[in-house]
Amino acid sequence: MHDLVIRNGKIVDGTGAPAINGDIAIDNGRISSVGGQAGSARREIDAKGMLVTPGFVDIHTHYDGQVTWDPYLTPSSWHGVTTLVMGNCGVGFAPVAPGKQEFLIGLMEGVEDIPGTALAEGIKWGWESFPQYLEVVDGMKRAIDVGAQVPHGSIRAYVMGERGAHNEEATPDDIAKMAAIVREALQAGALGFTTSRTMLHRAKNKELVPGTFASEDELLGIGRAIGEAGHGVFEMASDMVGPDATMEWMHKLTAETGLPITFAIAQIDNQPQKFRDLLGKVRELNAQGANLAPQVAGRPVGMLMGLQSSLHPFITHRRYKAIAHLPLDERVAKMREPEFRAQILSEEPTVREKATRHFVTNFSKFFPLGDPPDYEPAEDQNLAARAAREGRTPQELTYDALLERDGKALLYVPFANYTEYNLDAIHEMLTDPATTLGLSDGGAHCGLICDASMPTYLLSYWVRDRKRGQRLELEYAVKRQTSDTARLYGLNDRGVLKPGMKADVNVIDLDGLKLHAPEMVFDLPAGGRRLIQKVDGYKYTVVSGEVIYEDGKPTGALPGKLIRGPQPAPVL
Ligand SMILES: [Zn+2]
Repeated sequence: MHDLVIRNGKIVDGTGAPAINGDIAIDNGRISSVGGQAGSARREIDAKGMLVTPGFVDIHTHYDGQVTWDPYLTPSSWHGVTTLVMGNCGVGFAPVAPGKQEFLIGLMEGVEDIPGTALAEGIKWGWESFPQYLEVVDGMKRAIDVGAQVPHGSIRAYVMGERGAHNEEATPDDIAKMAAIVREALQAGALGFTTSRTMLHRAKNKELVPGTFASEDELLGIGRAIGEAGHGVFEMASDMVGPDATMEWMHKLTAETGLPITFAIAQIDNQPQKFRDLLGKVRELNAQGANLAPQVAGRPVGMLMGLQSSLHPFITHRRYKAIAHLPLDERVAKMREPEFRAQILSEEPTVREKATRHFVTNFSKFFPLGDPPDYEPAEDQNLAARAAREGRTPQELTYDALLERDGKALLYVPFANYTEYNLDAIHEMLTDPATTLGLSDGGAHCGLICDASMPTYLLSYWVRDRKRGQRLELEYAVKRQTSDTARLYGLNDRGVLKPGMKADVNVIDLDGLKLHAPEMVFDLPAGGRRLIQKVDGYKYTVVSGEVIYEDGKPTGALPGKLIRGPQPAPVL
């Protein structure tokens, strides 16, 4: 008698092998058989007509705070994610010196747009060191598995205090202390070390993430500590705009330790070929012994601008600022007054900072997102093009679009990966063997981006719906989101449906899989806001053999664990 049998499903096992029809049997939280007909079980799930996949493994999230108050880690777990890795991009909450919690909250709020008030109220601090943080996370029940990484920003602030926070150069002594913390964190079970080298990631006080300008000595010093620990991914948020020297130190380090470095690659509008050059360079260096794993997204990096978002085209207009504090309905009523509308449309944005000014005036990249949301809209649908056709100004069109759905409408502003107004460049990145799927940023950018739903999109759009270009084969798409991501982090006990593996499984109605439009909700601690995106079509999500969601509803089972270190493949 098995614990659980999932019967008659279309099994896509995560290896890329062709789908087979049959049963999956589960015992003691592990898979005991795949395919064919399994014997009877205490619980049976009828999966006829359904897709059966491994649980999804999302390696790029920022749930470091939420993990201490939300056992479900939504929205990611709604989208079939059964394992997530947090602590990315150099920001997180450990180690932390006594009294310095607020600094780390400001860093997370600025960099990842997670409301500071939510973090301040939500996080029940009970640690100083990284191992102590792991103890706290480990001691809580949750639905899915989580892995943590130790962030450079916290380490630098901890070791170097103000000097670290202000990005001053680290001394050899500082580097030795930081390396020791990284070693200790990895030995306690951290899955990696993360840092930021991007000019886009700033704390609330506008300072860049501590470590952004770290010297090669500092990076190599820390990197060697990872090598000594014997495991750990080196993750880096980067614009990849610097000289190729950036890759030289990465090459040096990965060739020395054999451990991977992962960093984002995307297509940017002012250098649309650059991602191809970078991928070419990665292939070349990997052929010479480097271990570089560029992370790519499954869709454009899209900001969702609306009247409740942290950015929209009128947010810095003088007259808008005067009403910005009002509740949404009052703001909408005011904005509908013809006189107010005319006044605000005669103004210019007051923001001087170049990047933000570009974002709020780049009308040819503004699209009404719609419901169901369209993430690959045709070029002629952008608001600048539509305004030209209608003989109106793009500002007018944008203003009116924001007022739709009682002021809850969202504009989709793809700022990377959409130079040619289609997803062909993403197809190229997704199918490049050097890349890994990442960048959902689950739990972060709460006021502007909601890409935690990317695992769903990979199936609903890339496998099923796309008509404007090539699609992805089902087996390939599943592999990308399961075994490929798990392998990068050494999680060899999951991501594949085969005997002995951890029984993390999704049962999906692929025909009925449907993403809803993202929406702003105010359900974080202290009423903090976040964008969420709901979905239909996940019939069952199973973690360690226990059903955690049935038809999208939590069952109450909380089998999730903290993952400590890489996990060996089962020995049968
Ligand atoms: Zn990130």
